[in-house]
Amino acid sequence: MKILLVDDSRAIAMITTARLESFGHEVRHAINGPTAIELFQKESFDLILMDIEMPGMNGFETTTRIRSLEGHEQWAWTPIIFVTATDSDDNLVTAIEAGGDDFISKGVAESVLQAKMKAMSRIATLRSRLAQANNRLQDQANHDGLTGLYNRRAMDMRVDLLWESAVQNGYSFGLLMIDVDHFKKYNDHYGHLAGDDCLCKVAARLEEVAEQINAEGWARGVFAARYGGEEFAIVIPEAGVDGHQRAGKLVVDAVAALNLPHEKNEAGRVTVSVGAIRVMPAVGWVKETFRMADDLLYEAKSGGRNRCVAN
Ligand code: GH3
Ligand code: MG
Ligand code: MG
Ligand code: MG
Repeated sequence: MKILLVDDSRAIAMITTARLESFGHEVRHAINGPTAIELFQKESFDLILMDIEMPGMNGFETTTRIRSLEGHEQWAWTPIIFVTATDSDDNLVTAIEAGGDDFISKGVAESVLQAKMKAMSRIATLRSRLAQANNRLQDQANHDGLTGLYNRRAMDMRVDLLWESAVQNGYSFGLLMIDVDHFKKYNDHYGHLAGDDCLCKVAARLEEVAEQINAEGWARGVFAARYGGEEFAIVIPEAGVDGHQRAGKLVVDAVAALNLPHEKNEAGRVTVSVGAIRVMPAVGWVKETFRMADDLLYEAKSGGRNRCVAN
C-alpha cells in the first residue's frame, strides 16, 4: 500500500516508517496537517495514518478537511487510521465523527499493526477495483457503443452546462447538425455491417475536425457527438461570427475527402449535409436552437445535399 503518515514528530515518523516499510508498504511522511493536505491533493494514497496531537492543525481538523476535499464520490473514500498516545473513548468518538475509520495506540504490538495493515490492504484493493469499475461505467454511460463518440445523453449534459456559462459570460454558442446523405440506400446496397463501419469512419473524421478546430484555436472546447442513428452534432462554444460556417464547410469537405464509395448517392461517395447555427444564448433557448439547426439541415438536404447551410 501507499501510506501517508502524518506525524509532527520526526523520530516517531522514522520508526513507524521503518516498521511499515518492513511490511512492504511505501510511506510518505507529512510533518503537519497543511503538508498532509497538500500531499493528499497531489498524490493518491491507499491509507492515511494520522497523529492526533499536532501543533497548529490537529489530526481531527486535518481529517475533516481531507474528507471535504474528497467531494461526493463515495468510492473515493481513503481509509484514515488515527494513531495516538492516549486511547480514551472520547478520542475514539471524536475520531470517527471527524471522518476517521479506526484508531490505534502508538505502542501497538507489531502483530496488531501488521494485522490492521492487512485488513486495510484488502480495503485498498476493493477500492481500486470499485474505482476502475466506476470509471468504466461512467465511460459507457457517456459514450456511444458503436462510434465511441459522446452519446446524446452526455452531449445534452455538456450543452446545458455550456449554455448556462455562455448566458452568464456573453459567449456565443455554435452548433452543427450533421446527417449522412442517403444512408438508408447505403445500408440497402452495402449491408448493415458495412453501414456500421461507415458510421465509425465518419465519426472518427468528425472527431478529428473538432480536434483540429481546437488546435487552431478559433473556438474552444469543440466536441463531436452521435446525436442518434446517422445523425451527428458538433458543438462549437465561443466561436467567432463565421466560426460555425467555417466548421460546417470543414465537415462537409472532410467527409467527402474520405472517399468512401456510395454508388447510390449523387456524389458517388459518402457525403453529409450540415445545418450550422450560431446564437448568443438566452435562458431557455437551447431546444429552439437545436430546432433551428435542424431546419437549416433540412435546407441543406433539399438544396442538393453534400453542403452546409448556415444562419
Ligand atoms: P437523407 O439523405 O435524407 O438523410 O436520407 P437517409 O436515407 O440518410 O435518411 P433516413 O432517415 O431515411 O435513413 C437513415 C438510415 O440510417 C436508416 C437507418 O437504418 C440507418 N441507421 C441508423 N442508425 C444506424 C446504425 O447504427 N447502423 C446502420 N448501419 N444504419 C443505421
Ligand atoms: Mg504528535
Ligand atoms: Mg437522418
Ligand atoms: Mg441521412
